[in-house]
Amino acid sequence: MAKYEGGCACGAVRFSTDAEPMMAGHCQCRHCQKLSGAGHSSFAAFPEATVSMSGKVKYWDYRADSGNTASRGHCPTCGSMVAGKTTGMSGVVALNITSLDDPSKIVPQMVFFHGKANGWDHLDASLPRFPGMPPM
Ligand SMILES: [Zn+2]
Ligand SMILES: [Zn+2]
Repeated sequence: MAKYEGGCACGAVRFSTDAEPMMAGHCQCRHCQKLSGAGHSSFAAFPEATVSMSGKVKYWDYRADSGNTASRGHCPTCGSMVAGKTTGMSGVVALNITSLDDPSKIVPQMVFFHGKANGWDHLDASLPRFPGMPPM
């Protein structure tokens, strides 16, 4: 069994990795709100080469505020968002923490795009929070 395993809601898409996440955070940007149907999405970034993915993932591309092209990967059957990529960080894939079989295994360490947060979307106040993307 890999260290981290997960997949979409219907099980058609599965992923696994033995790597440790490079970072993990919550994102409260409007894309994450609309894509997740909630106040934020919670993701962990891994080197793409360490992640094995099975099943068909459909990617949707858009121009991010940074000017980079961002892609969100969904299961075409159940619609779950499982993965994200950006041209700003090539070779890195962000996996949805809630897609893990055990989402408690990775704890988000920071909050992105807090400037877009809804007043009702309360996250751990002790986490560092950034109005947009954190400085890289
Ligand atoms: Zn699915
Ligand atoms: Zn976001």
